[in-house]
Amino acid sequence: MTSTVVRLDRITRSYPGGVTALDGVSLDIRHGELVAIVGPSGSGKSTLLNMIGSLDRPDHGTVTVDGHDVATLGDRELSALRALHIGFVFQHFHLTAGVRALDNVAEGLLYAGIPLAQRRVAARTALERVGLGHRVYHRPHELSGGEKQRVAIARALVGGPSLLLADEPTGALDSRSGTTVMNLLRALNAEGTTVVIITHDREIAASLPRQVHVRDGRIVHDSAPGSEQSAPVGTQAVSPC
Ligand code: ADP
Repeated sequence: MTSTVVRLDRITRSYPGGVTALDGVSLDIRHGELVAIVGPSGSGKSTLLNMIGSLDRPDHGTVTVDGHDVATLGDRELSALRALHIGFVFQHFHLTAGVRALDNVAEGLLYAGIPLAQRRVAARTALERVGLGHRVYHRPHELSGGEKQRVAIARALVGGPSLLLADEPTGALDSRSGTTVMNLLRALNAEGTTVVIITHDREIAASLPRQVHVRDGRIVHDSAPGSEQSAPVGTQAVSPC
């Protein structure tokens, strides 16, 4: 196993209409890191996270996940790579309405080729892991925002991913629930999962060991030691939001 989980090498991504969402971005995420991605709205953070998670492919440049060049993989292989290695958490939870927490979490193993009974056993364990062992039969509308996000985190981690990607995981939560969710993400990281979080919250960003600042589709500052952008570009002051 290499120490790099994901490597982006000079990737660009444009959208129809001439928007260049990412403009020659290079970034290494190493095993065990806990990284904040920050930047103004529209700067390219979600596009960047989608590239790290291989939900999207670049127009130019290469994306390597756990040593696999994503461009050489077919859609099926790419789905398998994601299912095995990467968990996703979103601001608005993306839980299936009307479905109890146990089965929402078991859905995280749908593509792992595991029988339903076993998926449910693993789902229960994951829910216990996030402190929701007493909510397994609750449906999303019976849960608080913080509980929904913890169900979503359980779904993301049920397959034992090496990489957890979270797009504004506390953005829709009150500060207390946000703190609980952040503590959970920190605990998962302390147990060895690599975690990358997009956040608008300056305090959260500042509390994480590494901050990657994105602006206009470029990384303008990366606090990682040895990074090309470890000092702010020019004299500009770069704020996290
Ligand atoms: P952020 O996450 O920092 O808000 P995004 O990565 O979502 O930024 O978007 C970067 C730029 O790409 C923005 O200008 C946005 O409008 C544009 N963009 C994002 N997704 C699409 C899309 N599917 N089609 C067209 N433009 C898009």
